[in-house]
Amino acid sequence: MHAHSTASDGTDSPAQVVAAAAAAGLATIALTDHDTTGGWAEATRALESLPPGLTLVLGAELSCVSRSCFPPAALAPIPAPGDSGSPPEPISLHLLAYLFDPAEPALRAARARLRDGRLHRAERMVAKLADDGFPISWPTVREAAAGGAVGRPHIARALVAAGVVPTVAAAFSPELIGTGGRYYVDKEELAVLEALRLVRAAGGVSVFAHPGASRRGPVVSEETIGAMAAEGLAGLEVDHADHDPRQRAELRTLARDLGLFVTGGSDYHGSSKTARIGDETTAPEVVDAIIATATGTAPRVA
Ligand code: AMP
Ligand code: FE
Ligand code: FE
Ligand code: ZN
Repeated sequence: MHAHSTASDGTDSPAQVVAAAAAAGLATIALTDHDTTGGWAEATRALESLPPGLTLVLGAELSCVSRSCFPPAALAPIPAPGDSGSPPEPISLHLLAYLFDPAEPALRAARARLRDGRLHRAERMVAKLADDGFPISWPTVREAAAGGAVGRPHIARALVAAGVVPTVAAAFSPELIGTGGRYYVDKEELAVLEALRLVRAAGGVSVFAHPGASRRGPVVSEETIGAMAAEGLAGLEVDHADHDPRQRAELRTLARDLGLFVTGGSDYHGSSKTARIGDETTAPEVVDAIIATATGTAPRVA
């Protein structure tokens, strides 16, 4: 229920993602590129050359932010007694949106704004790196993204190609382009409660991606997740490589308390990350419920 292609920062084409899912024996694959539906058409066409059996759930992973100023109280982190370390908001987070209507104007405009923000932000990051003498250039990075949603992995791959770092992962450091790092630039993000409303209005279903992935930066509080549930969030991506067993247990309990689906996803990015497609899976009845809830787009079937 979570995979990326060259439509954003994955390294497999949309057709290759679908073929990889079939080869892995999966019943369903969701294509969830960052802030874009650009891979939907190719992934759908690719089903025609596959043996029957695979269901394709079309989706996207939306770049969002939790802001305590809107609405005032509901999103403000409530410090636990004796806890001085509540992370300051705003906090970046990712929302998986499934089977929304790609033509619905408000969500479509929001995706376009996010992609445009990504483009300018990546250009600024590359300029900062180039100014300090790193041998990478904006035209090369932009062309590597090939019209898809640009992300830090495209910059990381340029740094690998230039011999600056040995691996994509090594570029995600405080000295380079890790979150908050020396050459990091913030990107455009949607207020998460607004994103939840937009997805719902477009007939889609929302699942909070890797909600406990603290390795990537601060994570939102359970209170914020409660506010998201009240705004129509349908599920939590509990089974994700960035969650350890204790986090998974806590998130499973939170999902049960809030009446949310539990999903799992590999967050497959091709050769850009180590996860293989199908590394984490979602219960078939949850997939069925997500499909049954959505009204924006029908899943495609091989
Ligand atoms: P961006 O959305 O442009 O800020 O970039 C975030 C993306 O970078 C994530 O979606 C991942 O694809 C990738 N990423 C983040 N951290 C790492 C890491 N440590 N190693 C490899 N890829 C990463
Ligand atoms: Fe990514
Ligand atoms: Fe993500
Ligand atoms: Zn992802």
